[in-house]
Amino acid sequence: MRTTVAIVGAGPAGLLLARLLRNAGIDCVVLENRTRAYVEQRQRAGILEQGTVDVLRACGAGARMDAEGLVHHGIELRFDRRRHRIGFPELTDGRSVTVYAQTEVVKDLIALQLAEGPPLLFEARALAVEKPESEHPVVRFTHEGRERTLDCDYVVGCDGFHGIARAAFPDEVRRTYERTYPYSWLGILAEVPPSCDELIYARGEGGFALHSMRSPSVSRLYLQVPNGTDPADWSDERIWDELDRRFATDDGDWSLARGPITSKSVTPMRSHVTEPMRYGRVFLAGDAAHIVPPTGAKGLNLAVSDVRILARAFDHHHRTGSDELLDSYSDLCLRRVWQATRFSYDMTTMLHSQPGENAFDTRVHVARLHRLAASRSAAGELAANYTGLPL
Ligand SMILES: Cc1cc2nc3c(=O)[nH]c(=O)nc-3n(C[C@H](O)[C@H](O)[C@H](O)COP(=O)(O)OP(=O)(O)OC[C@H]3O[C@@H](n4cnc5c(N)ncnc54)[C@H](O)[C@@H]3O)c2cc1C
Repeated sequence: MRTTVAIVGAGPAGLLLARLLRNAGIDCVVLENRTRAYVEQRQRAGILEQGTVDVLRACGAGARMDAEGLVHHGIELRFDRRRHRIGFPELTDGRSVTVYAQTEVVKDLIALQLAEGPPLLFEARALAVEKPESEHPVVRFTHEGRERTLDCDYVVGCDGFHGIARAAFPDEVRRTYERTYPYSWLGILAEVPPSCDELIYARGEGGFALHSMRSPSVSRLYLQVPNGTDPADWSDERIWDELDRRFATDDGDWSLARGPITSKSVTPMRSHVTEPMRYGRVFLAGDAAHIVPPTGAKGLNLAVSDVRILARAFDHHHRTGSDELLDSYSDLCLRRVWQATRFSYDMTTMLHSQPGENAFDTRVHVARLHRLAASRSAAGELAANYTGLPL
């Protein structure tokens, strides 16, 4: 099997890159380890930055997002039992975010790809990327019980945090920067209309809680829990009681509607950046190169901005023969990645209680929240980062 660009992984990064390359007339093949059903059901992100919305629309994948996505013009910060709204358009020249689940983005991109190409192989597990420095690297993979090879001019590892593409970078080239936070998120999906019009980020009694949503009838809620928490230890009633406690407010009437919980999972909070994002003819994009804690809603959006930059570089090369943009890919992405890493770190540390946190640290974090509530410039900085920095 032979192609120009071999893409490993059919998450948002791999699928969108395939779509952008197709539209630019560049052939590629996508290899995905899992089944279509598994990939389409994997619950993850839900907040799309303005730039993510724009690129999905421009590449022909925006119809359902435009019909079903919920445009949000702000978020609520809740702390000291008070509510504070940060409005985005007035602080960012009109920018906003869209609530549209990652599962739906993935479904839309898969449907387009299966209808219009390029080839997408499910249950095709990449084993290794070989000859990364040569003009013709090779991806070795298994499919339908056989080991096969995909010969290509370039490989893009869009295979997430646990993928294999990163391993093609020699140890002496690859640098890793990491932080593991001392808490995790217990996330639930509940069949109940959201109790708010916009997301609520709460630093409440007992720690952080987030009220998000997937649609007008499905709520997505998260609780800060200790690392190593087993979701089975949290009964539905215990989860709702704890959410009530963390969202408690003295600012008028507000109550959290309860409903059947359809999914529970625990996600560790981690920051991870691999540098560089290119070695030879192998590129990394999305979670394969970097992970952020979900507090700033940046992971999916960073994956999208990586592949926008990469698709533009491949297009430039295809039209002009120049390697200039391919050569600057890693540096350009990493500047944005570190801004998102910083923002996610700030949001995470400000909103969570550290285990064993002393009263001084608590006061400093709450003072940061008060500053956001009181200062237009501080709120503007949050809004600019949340809705997405320009490419
Ligand atoms: C609970 C949770 C909440 C989140 N919330 C948000 C949010 O609100 N906003 C936000 O922006 N981000 C959020 N994120 C992060 C976001 O989901 C990820 O950043 C995003 O999925 C990255 O996309 P990706 O395509 O790079 O990687 P992935 O989605 O991980 O896709 C990688 C793909 O590669 C495949 N693969 C792996 N290994 C191989 C192999 N050897 N061969 C072939 N295929 C392989 C995998 O099966 C997978 O389909 C959240 C994440 C979690 C876990």
